[in-house]
Amino acid sequence: MINVHSVESLGTFDGPGIRLVFFLQGCNFKCLYCSNPDTIEKKTGRLMTTTEVLQMARNQRPFFGEKGGVTVSGGEPLLQARELLPVFKALKADGFNTCVDTNGASLSASVKELLDYTDLVLLDIKQIEPKAHEKIAGTKNLTTLKFASYLQEIGKPTWIRYVLVPGYTDKEEHLQQLGLFVQNMQNVERIDILPYHKLGKHKYEALGWDYQLEQVELNSKENIERAKNILLPYGKVVLVN
Ligand code: SF4
Repeated sequence: MINVHSVESLGTFDGPGIRLVFFLQGCNFKCLYCSNPDTIEKKTGRLMTTTEVLQMARNQRPFFGEKGGVTVSGGEPLLQARELLPVFKALKADGFNTCVDTNGASLSASVKELLDYTDLVLLDIKQIEPKAHEKIAGTKNLTTLKFASYLQEIGKPTWIRYVLVPGYTDKEEHLQQLGLFVQNMQNVERIDILPYHKLGKHKYEALGWDYQLEQVELNSKENIERAKNILLPYGKVVLVN
């Protein structure tokens, strides 16, 4: 069974086309900007069986069209790689497109096996520079970068997602490093710049947590364009989402 925080039908943000998105409970990062902080704690949410997931996907199949399908997000879905394996096997056997939205901080045998049943990985690179990564995500990025290299090795179609936070992830040298890191990865189809927002802030209040980015301004249009223009020469499609 998988431990689910919530389910979104007709999602258009987490992968190609229209998608059924399962947000799983529990994360091994604690990003300062996390817009779903209520998914971080490793507690029990809604426990769902493979049959339930498959049934939901079947019910929504008419909306998926050619590109859509099922995404697991979080929280950090790969913490439940072993439990997801039968789910993804069943989804693939039924012809669904599968997508994992991950921070890449787990590369176990189960994760590797799950990737065999995954059509697309949305890899969230929080920061390329290790110390700055620790500042924004509360932990190191070594496994995430190894995970990215593994995706390259197996040729797994990947979209990189990068949250642009003024003062934390928007330094030119860090964006250049990110561009250099992905430029030779043939499996990386695009880089999505996700402008920082404060939509999850009220959830911190509800959890009794400090919202540490209170003083951070939203990105200006110019800052987003600047980041895009720094990344573009590295040969990838760069989108702002
Ligand atoms: S990895 Fe995702 S779910 Fe986990 S803390 Fe960061 S933004 Fe939140």
